[in-house]
Amino acid sequence: MNNKFKLDGRMFINGERVQAFSNEEIDVIDPSTGEKVATTPAGDAPDVDAAVQNSLHAYKNEWRKVKPLDRANILFNIAKKVDENREELAYIESLDVGKPYRQALQDVDSTIGYFQFYAGLADKVFGTSIPLGVGTVDYTVREPIGVSAQIVPWNYPLQLSSRGFAPALAAGNVVVAKVAEDASLSILRLAEIAYEAGLPKGVLNIVTGYGAVAGNALSEHPDIHHLTFTGSLPTGVQVMKTAANQVTPVNLELGGKSPIIIFDDADIDSVVNTAASVITQNAGQTCSAASRIIVDRRVQDEVVSRIAEKMGAVQLGRGLDNPDMGPVVSERQMNGILKAIEKGEESKAQVVVGGKRSEQAGLENGYFIEPTLFNNMKAGSFIEQEEIFGPVLGVMPFDDPEEALEMANGTKYGLVASVWGNNLKLIHHFTNEIEAGQVFVNGYGAGGGVALPFGGYKKSGFGREKGVEALQNYTTVKNIWINYL
Ligand code: NAD
Repeated sequence: MNNKFKLDGRMFINGERVQAFSNEEIDVIDPSTGEKVATTPAGDAPDVDAAVQNSLHAYKNEWRKVKPLDRANILFNIAKKVDENREELAYIESLDVGKPYRQALQDVDSTIGYFQFYAGLADKVFGTSIPLGVGTVDYTVREPIGVSAQIVPWNYPLQLSSRGFAPALAAGNVVVAKVAEDASLSILRLAEIAYEAGLPKGVLNIVTGYGAVAGNALSEHPDIHHLTFTGSLPTGVQVMKTAANQVTPVNLELGGKSPIIIFDDADIDSVVNTAASVITQNAGQTCSAASRIIVDRRVQDEVVSRIAEKMGAVQLGRGLDNPDMGPVVSERQMNGILKAIEKGEESKAQVVVGGKRSEQAGLENGYFIEPTLFNNMKAGSFIEQEEIFGPVLGVMPFDDPEEALEMANGTKYGLVASVWGNNLKLIHHFTNEIEAGQVFVNGYGAGGGVALPFGGYKKSGFGREKGVEALQNYTTVKNIWINYL
């Protein structure tokens, strides 16, 4: 089919589109049809090295010398230009990832939000002054760390890249990113727009390629100063070990198995809407998606039947046709989800709705999975413990609030949690005791807005993205002591 906008998969080094030195390429597949729509270079260690050396040069000779307010103005201009290219970016993201076009538009709006938010902070990265008495002045400055390396996954390319790029650039760092082999086109277009908006050459380099090759080369590079990794737990562990050899500090933003806890006095209308929509957003491929429902047994039947009704009514279709839910990103991802569903059935949890690849006419070649609801999911089973990263939700009943708390905290992850009810004492008890980086009460933000700090407890990672907190990742403290007597 003809694409409405140009799809250019080439990498960005020194502000120019380039191929890999090897000229090897990776096919870019439309997950709605299984067809190849473009290619992107298979970057390798020499490409990563070229990008890092260029970034280092841009840091020392260019970006470090730009005044904070001037950096702010460039970032504001990037936000403006992203807005001007809103439809093109959403089109590319929807085609590449498979997500419904309107969700892709929301992702573009978040991208604008990130650049605006951190543009506003660029000249407010304050230090402190420490009183030591007459004769001595002591103060701290927060300096940029230098070359910020960022490894980005495929599920929200625009949001997750701008979540790291904007604070890093605002604080005075340069960025070299390795984007995901499964979806990178919208980030490459974002980089192009950033250059059109006045970003100096080399300040944002983007390398494409496979994780084990280009991603690994970036993690082990001696000339990066910090590494932000967003992706799965096993890869995060691998990246952290590799970075340790160079004493490179890392931020890990990993997976989740986030719960929604429903007390019997909760607003059931509201919570069932939320639960069904959160797990089908981006076909369940959201790190902060709620994939476990922990419900008071007295309202379990009502909650299950109403969520099932909603999940069963979800219309599947090609992302660009704006369905309720699109395909998952790749055949590999689809097969992993189907295997997890099989394991759920083996554990004797009951499939209430869905449970298989979609057989809908016209979708045969795409990677479509029916929204799937399990009832009476077993504590400790695979589907209860492991991140499935697809439209699969499991329900577990509780009889006592302490049992609910134990279930909520009963996985290795701790990204987001949500509690629904109106007993103030119980709600506060849960917000205190839940092990998660974000807790929502009578709502669910799937990561929340740009201003809310976001990150993991336990094996969901460490460090915080978003909000003012993210600037901590991208700055380091220098203490200056002056004797004037
Ligand atoms: P992934 O770990 O397979 O890949 C993430 C990135 O790492 C990709 O760019 C990949 O190419 C790269 N990579 C793979 N192997 C590598 C290696 N050996 N060395 C260096 N880089 C390597 O994850 P994914 O499947 O792309 O993304 C899904 C995962 O990301 C889920 O677990 C999800 O929860 C998590 N995620 C977390 C957040 C968050 O903010 N906490 C946000 C989005 C996604």
